[in-house]
Amino acid sequence: MDTVLYIVIPCYNEEKVLPLTAPMFLSKIEELVEKDLISKDSRVLFVNDGSKDKTWEIISALSKEDARYQGISLSRNRGHQNALLAGLMYAKDRAGITISIDCDGQDDVNAMNDMVEAYHKGFDVVYGVRSARKTDTFFKRTTAEGFYKLMNAMGAEVVYNHADYRLMSSRVLKEFANFKEVNIFLRGMVPLVGFASTSVYYERHERMAGESHYPLKKMLALAFDGITSLSVKPIRIITGFGLFVAAISLIGIIWSVIVALSGNAVSGWASTVSIICFLGGIQLLSLGVIGEYIGKIYLEVKGRPRYIISETTEKEKEE
Ligand code: UDP
Ligand code: MG
Repeated sequence: MDTVLYIVIPCYNEEKVLPLTAPMFLSKIEELVEKDLISKDSRVLFVNDGSKDKTWEIISALSKEDARYQGISLSRNRGHQNALLAGLMYAKDRAGITISIDCDGQDDVNAMNDMVEAYHKGFDVVYGVRSARKTDTFFKRTTAEGFYKLMNAMGAEVVYNHADYRLMSSRVLKEFANFKEVNIFLRGMVPLVGFASTSVYYERHERMAGESHYPLKKMLALAFDGITSLSVKPIRIITGFGLFVAAISLIGIIWSVIVALSGNAVSGWASTVSIICFLGGIQLLSLGVIGEYIGKIYLEVKGRPRYIISETTEKEKEE
């Protein structure tokens, strides 16, 4: 089989978990090679997202130990999405297919068999979908599921319970490279590229070591970012609300004229204050949402690079 697979793994401060999970990815590659599903030139590609601990040292050491481990290092921390993008763009010219996965062992590597088989059946994108969240706490589970519901309600199409564990062919990645935006939310953007896609289901495990980088606050930020990067529905909601409030105001105006004509104009202080407060709140909130979009435009217009690769393990070998 001559299909080269690159497993792309973003890592940020993962010194505790990397030594445990790296051999897992490599033995999965060995297994798939043995089953003749992928080429023996397949690689495990780590993306060091500007870690402050020994993560890059570990990746470099691994690559010296076994050439099937490779690494690229970003010049600073750019966040999970940018790190993943860097890895995928690096892999797209070297591999026929890529599978992106977190490095903490939460996503079941065994789902890769089904993913690669689905690719051979003709699917260009295969989403890994969590079938159970038994090991997540009740809180994490409900907030995470709420996250997907909120995203879809706000017009950002995402596959339910799919994180960034997915197979993409180089054909898809080459088209994806034309999506030049700097505000990226991969799991919402991949469906936009199109091509035949399917899902495989797996159970999500607990993190093998270390701590999650996505507490509730970051998850909310990611949801908000995802929504405003992918959809203008919040602005439409504001427009709808504006129309609604305008209609109510008309009734208010008629009412105030009637009250004035009937000579009771002084009463009604409470209603006046509540209307002012209500409208003030709505206006500020709306301005905030619109401002968020303007901020996004500002970042897009500048078009700064989304990541900068400072080192690769490949280069070390050339020297
Ligand atoms: N990650 C990254 N850059 C960051 C934060 C996280 O590359 O700034 C990586 C991290 O090393 C892991 C993946 O993104 O491989 C997912 O992070 P985490 O496991 O903390 O999130 P969770 O699974 O709890 O949502
Ligand atoms: Mg995790």
